[in-house]
Amino acid sequence: MNELVAIVEDEADLAALTAEHLRREGFRVETFGEAERFFRALAKKKPDLVVLDLMLPDMNGLDVCRSLKRSEDWRSIPIIMATARAEETDRVLGLELGADDYVVKPFSHKELTARIKAVLRRSRNPEEGGQVSVGEDLVLDRERFEARCKGKLLDLTSTEFRILLLLASKRGRVLTREQILDELWGHEKIVLDRTIDVHIKNLRDKLGPAASLVKNIRGVGYKVEP
Ligand code: CA
Repeated sequence: MNELVAIVEDEADLAALTAEHLRREGFRVETFGEAERFFRALAKKKPDLVVLDLMLPDMNGLDVCRSLKRSEDWRSIPIIMATARAEETDRVLGLELGADDYVVKPFSHKELTARIKAVLRRSRNPEEGGQVSVGEDLVLDRERFEARCKGKLLDLTSTEFRILLLLASKRGRVLTREQILDELWGHEKIVLDRTIDVHIKNLRDKLGPAASLVKNIRGVGYKVEP
């Protein structure tokens, strides 16, 4: 059964072209020009993923994202936001609201397809067991708080390990500094954003050849890939 992608986008030409391309890639696709129509359809049939434009005629895409992520039934539906270059604040906010990824308009269909496939893959395979592997060389052991690169134990502090584990368990997804702080320090806001950068720098130094797996997304945050 092919996965159903919902495209919520009011630019009809763009929606049609994107839909056509995704169908060629083997997806089932439905397009919605307004949020309201999308919500009505959602009540009947749950898509496997939503590509969500942020500027819709009847509703802000961020509010659509917030509604989905607050709903018991719909929060598990992955969301990829489609934003304009100028909407960087919205992009960060969208990720904070729980969107899984974003593409910046004008995006290539190839890029969108790759992102859709990656997000679907992650949502299908939540990490099993106590081990998380990243790329070919890096393995994290949740229970023992250990990271190994090519079998060799890395000398990480517990903070470095926790940051790495957090990024690795949400692989491919960009986390803002704010999200990393929230996840690891809760609401003890004594830790500053800059602290994350320092930990990540130290972490990268210790990762050696695997350092390139931890990527800095300028103006947004960090992610681990592949
Ligand atoms: Ca729009």
